[in-house]
Amino acid sequence: MKLTKRSDQIPAQPGNDSNSGMASGRSAISRRAFLRNSGLMAGGAVLASSYTPGMIKRVQAAESATAGEVQQIKTICTHCSVGCGIIAEVENGVWTGQEPAFDHPFSHGAHCAKGASVREHGHGERRLKYPTKLVDGKWKRISWDEAINEVGDKMLQIRESSGPDSVYWLGSAKHNNEQAYLFRKFAALWGTNNVDHQARICHSTTVAGVANTWGYGAMTNSYNDIHFSRSILLIGGNPAEAHPVSLQHIFRAKERNNAPLIVVDPRFTRTAAHADQYLRLRPGTDVPLIWGMLWHIFQNGWEDKEYISQRVYGLDEVRKEVAKWTPDEVERVTGIPEHQVFAAIKTMADNRPGTLIWCMGGTQHSIGNNNTRAYCILQLALGNVGVAGGGTNIFRGHDNVQGATDLGVLMDTLPGYYGLSEGAWKHWAGVWDLDFEWLKGRFDDGTYAQGNGKEVSQMNAAGIPVSRWIDGVLEDKANIAQKDNVKAMVLWGHAPNSQTRGKEMKSAMEKLDMLVIVDPYPTVSAVMHDRTDGVYLLPASTQFETSGSVTASNRSLQWRDKVIEPMFESLPDQTIMYKFAKKLGFGEQLVKNIQLNGEEPLIEDITREYNRGMWTIGYTGQSPERMKKQQQNWGTFDYDTLLAEGGPCDGEHYGLPWPCWGTAEMGHPGTPNLYDTSKTVAEGGLTFRARFGVERNGESLLANGSYSKGSEIKDGYPEFTDELLQKLGWWNDLTQEEQKQAEGKNWKTDLYGGIQRVAIKHGCSPFGNAKARTVVWTFPDPVPIHREPLYTSRRDLVEKYPTYEDRKSFFRLPTRYASIQAKDYSKDYPLILTSGRLVEYEGGGDETRSNPWLAELQQEMFVEINPRDANNAGIKDGDDVWLEGAEGARLKVKAQVTRRVASGVAFMPFHFGGHFEGKDLRSKYPEGADPYVLGEACNTAMTYGYDSVTQMQETKCSLCKISKA
Ligand code: SF4
Repeated sequence: MKLTKRSDQIPAQPGNDSNSGMASGRSAISRRAFLRNSGLMAGGAVLASSYTPGMIKRVQAAESATAGEVQQIKTICTHCSVGCGIIAEVENGVWTGQEPAFDHPFSHGAHCAKGASVREHGHGERRLKYPTKLVDGKWKRISWDEAINEVGDKMLQIRESSGPDSVYWLGSAKHNNEQAYLFRKFAALWGTNNVDHQARICHSTTVAGVANTWGYGAMTNSYNDIHFSRSILLIGGNPAEAHPVSLQHIFRAKERNNAPLIVVDPRFTRTAAHADQYLRLRPGTDVPLIWGMLWHIFQNGWEDKEYISQRVYGLDEVRKEVAKWTPDEVERVTGIPEHQVFAAIKTMADNRPGTLIWCMGGTQHSIGNNNTRAYCILQLALGNVGVAGGGTNIFRGHDNVQGATDLGVLMDTLPGYYGLSEGAWKHWAGVWDLDFEWLKGRFDDGTYAQGNGKEVSQMNAAGIPVSRWIDGVLEDKANIAQKDNVKAMVLWGHAPNSQTRGKEMKSAMEKLDMLVIVDPYPTVSAVMHDRTDGVYLLPASTQFETSGSVTASNRSLQWRDKVIEPMFESLPDQTIMYKFAKKLGFGEQLVKNIQLNGEEPLIEDITREYNRGMWTIGYTGQSPERMKKQQQNWGTFDYDTLLAEGGPCDGEHYGLPWPCWGTAEMGHPGTPNLYDTSKTVAEGGLTFRARFGVERNGESLLANGSYSKGSEIKDGYPEFTDELLQKLGWWNDLTQEEQKQAEGKNWKTDLYGGIQRVAIKHGCSPFGNAKARTVVWTFPDPVPIHREPLYTSRRDLVEKYPTYEDRKSFFRLPTRYASIQAKDYSKDYPLILTSGRLVEYEGGGDETRSNPWLAELQQEMFVEINPRDANNAGIKDGDDVWLEGAEGARLKVKAQVTRRVASGVAFMPFHFGGHFEGKDLRSKYPEGADPYVLGEACNTAMTYGYDSVTQMQETKCSLCKISKA
């Protein structure tokens, strides 16, 4: 496809000229060249050594500058979860340049194209500039006061007539930690669990699968820890485009340890181009492949028997399932020849420790939770979990999707994964210093039957997942387990084109009473419907216009300083939340213990508040002061271990990766690798969590003869409570005040921290020491099994591997499985449709497609199609084609004819939007806020299908047909 300079074709819109990206003369030409190179080179990752002379210079960060001086401010890239460091250069309050941070512990001066152009995001000339509403089909500028009053009045009216659950608060992985926490608290104080964010549709199946295997639902090790890997198995991920700088860590293992890289993907990606072994998998067959690998492990006795007997529960039940996956059956279902499966797993067995990396290729399936659990089981069988160089390195997507998940922007939990039980609410009511009964009174007082038939009050019932909000609007009210349908949607930092069933979403948007978009950009929510009123666009500031912490994929918290004051009339999220809370009648409660600066809640006070409550996952030790000190001392952390060597942070791990136990004063260094027993807990070691009881069917679930270094209990043990401390004779190790606070509490609910402190003093993990479990008896498939996708082209496999029965109520909604799979769509829609990322763009793509320098790099929405399928349809490379999804949505895109995809498979990137079924919607954007690049959203054509535990959407295997336009 020919690249044209799109930013020159379209005149710049009115904006702040002095700040516009194109006006930065000093480095404009060289940076454009750099961006072009970084977008096009394999992998998209650019290491410091690949910069041309003169493009960059080494800078010294300074805290302040006098007028006229260049101030260098440390910040973190706002695009992906790698968390690269950036030095922003600011002159007289204007962000004039940016430089790589050579001493940053994760990135060492490397950026990809997105990170190298964040200044243009901050100063984005296509941003929303002031509050706007749709009146008779035209955008009308309004003041913030008008916006808050009008939106607030409507919400209160909906609350009165339909109850609090009829307003849906959709939050964001783009919030920093403090905003994410405040957002979840805001929804709680409004009185609903209809709150969620992007994690639902990227890694919810990971969180559920991994947490239910060994305790915590997060990446176990870190990008840097891959330096110690002796082999790398990467499934369903394309980090060369999605997490470019992570490749420098993978390459280090290849170069230093000669670690073979095995890539499993239906598409020959830019990452696969670096692989030693590439396995082309039929989309949706991860479980058969993993069980096929385990079949060889068990057949050859390659499993780590001692590790399994000490630390793994239930593997014999898995063996029975694995026995069914003989090499010929694996080949029949996955399409991968036996010798390739054998070679891959022999490589992993011969080269330990090995790490297993996965991304959304593994998670976005109706059996996503089965996939993630199967990956964990493979690593457990090899003894690869809890060791440097091993683990499950799950690459999260957005820059703060890990943090927003941890802080509970989710419909099924409060912050810190406390859940929604009465105990959980009482815990947080205590932290918030609010009366529990008052909180309870904020919710709908009705009870509704859940999926298990039990009547539960709305305060304790999970809300509607973001993947299903459209059904919350469109479904017959009688079928929804809440008082009324969703009537108002607030999309706060969320691109709707990242979700499936675009045509139904359009209908849902049109049926709502009100649609509110809070975002630095209008997003396609502003244009994809045919509404003429009831839509509000409220300009939020970017993360460069506020400060706060952000959690990288590896659980490290990094502090971002404010780079510039909020541009245009934008406001930081925390200020907008407070304005709304005041209008809606709970402003005082929202900020009861948080200082206000005008109407802006103090970020550091928000950190301190969640520090007081996040005991479950150890977000208690990362005080603002500790995070800021680490930020000022980036260069003192070792690039391999992330451990500070000397200096003010000596002995701490970078980012105080959670769990960072106890209070900040306790000085825990953070936990670099989860479940690593070779270190003391005080140094960051850990056991598997005793989360699922101590016994099942007469068999102990606790660890057997395995414990962390220095543990005074030389065996498994349950989680710590006041009673356990008494029994162990350790009660008197608590101070008198600690004893008073710990009475009747456990390690999660003791707000004073004494229980955690004393457990760690005796070398123990506060959460106990158990086996990891390979059988999750509370899930629909206790042992992961294969089920064909809802829309499958392999009708011959449906009888043997059917999907689930339809469910009457699953997170408040009926959910279809078998009734869809019953129909054969494959004759009319013969191609498997899958999706993924491009290096140039991020998420729904609004901010990156509005960045002039990124927009130049990738200007057309396209579909990759194999030459055989293209030739049979008379399609040539570059032709316009119609792609029709199995539910009838039609997209007009360019054909890219390539062998990257196999015959029978089509691939589309998911960052585009602004076209809808062949129509260009550019004229519908507010003036000056249309992204440079528009295109069809791939998810318009993606079909129904949701994970059986989390309601993750199924975007990695649908069906379509393609014809010449
Ligand atoms: Fe680094 Fe990710 Fe930003 Fe690229 S997008 S610079 S890899 S944090």
